[in-house]
Amino acid sequence: ASYGAESIAEVDDGRLIRCITRRRTGRTLCGDRVELREHAPGEGTVERIRPRDTLLERTNYRGRNRPLAANVDLLLIVIAPLPEPDLQILDGYLVLAAQLDIAAAIVLNKSDLIDAEELSLLHERLQPYSGLGYRRLETSAHTGAGLDTLWQLISGHTAILVGQSGVGKSSMVNRLVPDHQARTRTLSRVGGQGRHTTTTTTLYPVPSGGALIDSPGIRILRLGQLSETMLERGFPEIRSRSPDCRFRDCRHRNEPGCAVLAAIERGHIAASRLRSFHRLLDAGSLATGDPDRPA
Ligand code: GDP
Ligand code: ZN
Repeated sequence: ASYGAESIAEVDDGRLIRCITRRRTGRTLCGDRVELREHAPGEGTVERIRPRDTLLERTNYRGRNRPLAANVDLLLIVIAPLPEPDLQILDGYLVLAAQLDIAAAIVLNKSDLIDAEELSLLHERLQPYSGLGYRRLETSAHTGAGLDTLWQLISGHTAILVGQSGVGKSSMVNRLVPDHQARTRTLSRVGGQGRHTTTTTTLYPVPSGGALIDSPGIRILRLGQLSETMLERGFPEIRSRSPDCRFRDCRHRNEPGCAVLAAIERGHIAASRLRSFHRLLDAGSLATGDPDRPA
């Protein structure tokens, strides 16, 4: 966990060390791998931050970019039967994963709330994503169903849970991190007064040998300037057809000779995906539908 100039680091033997960071070292982020010097038991200084593989940023309600987490290499996009899945948000996260060049999987939580018929309807809506090769799994943070599979998926990765508010992300962290409550208490004790773990981005190691980042602050993820080329990376089925459009600058709206529209006509691309593509293109950002405003 990182609090600006201070952070809590876990060392190889599992102990938590409260660290300060020197100005010239730069600010640590949750997920950073650091080299530190322990000068008193439990107290240390970060000497070096190892180069980051990835950097996840969010945009706050003032439109400013803030770094959120380092070295995330798996985006777990959580959806649930309730709140009703918003596929545009899902598509936005897939663009983010493509931009960061990391893997993404779709986690359908609250599986305990739906019967077989509703499940197959949801599967139908999610069919385009299986077709694109995204892994999908079902979980229930309440019954624990599917969590073993999720563990296996996280193993060896640094994963972050993202998704609409209310889909069960915090409940999943509670179930997935075995000693979550004890650990949260330790973190706030080590972190000291006023360091609320409930609003801080925190990394939890999972026993299968990976890590899970819980970031309650993750609300709006913006791709900076969302160029069309960038956007297309998150829509490989559109990207692969657009070279066949008659016009090089085809927007796939109603241009003659559009290969994307033709593919939709033939049922090879889901119309909902092209709708998302256009909405994201028009919006230029990935609002998750949960504006991050002070209450
Ligand atoms: P978050 O906003 O994504 O972190 O969602 P929360 O973890 O706060 O969960 C929102 C609500 O959904 C809470 O009332 C949870 O008890 C409930 N919930 C979370 N996971 C499940 C689940 O697997 N099954 C059911 N039935 N309810 C769940
Ligand atoms: Zn076209």
